[in-house]
Amino acid sequence: MKQKAIELLNSVNLRQTQPRVAILTVLLKAPAPVTQEQIAEQIGDSAPNKTTIYRTLMNLVEKDLVHKAYLQERTWHFELAHHCGQHQCHPHFTCSECQQTQCLPEVSMPLVKLPKGYVMERQQVRIEGICCDCRENK
Ligand SMILES: [Zn+2]
Ligand SMILES: [Zn+2]
Ligand SMILES: [Zn+2]
Repeated sequence: MKQKAIELLNSVNLRQTQPRVAILTVLLKAPAPVTQEQIAEQIGDSAPNKTTIYRTLMNLVEKDLVHKAYLQERTWHFELAHHCGQHQCHPHFTCSECQQTQCLPEVSMPLVKLPKGYVMERQQVRIEGICCDCRENK
């Protein structure tokens, strides 16, 4: 994973620093988007301070290696951009019963047509509903 993190940094010409490698390694392992706090927990004792984690994440977002996947309870959840297209992120599904949000990397949506004069940077879709687990447990 560490090697993969270094490759990602090289691909956007970012210097390898301990926080960048540590954060990308967490994101590579994460099965779902994670918050800044969860990233710090995963890194453990050697975790950089909050400000450094935040700045590093913003730096990785700016380089398009990491995306802000969705906002939940006023907290951003971050994920690697490797399952996203150039103008589109994969959709996220939030269950209104268990409040879990899942990635739907296999689903792609047609890009919306914007009114004249608007330029699309990225389309992000958030779907709300009932997940399979909650439906089965009913
Ligand atoms: Zn994305
Ligand atoms: Zn659910
Ligand atoms: Zn996702």
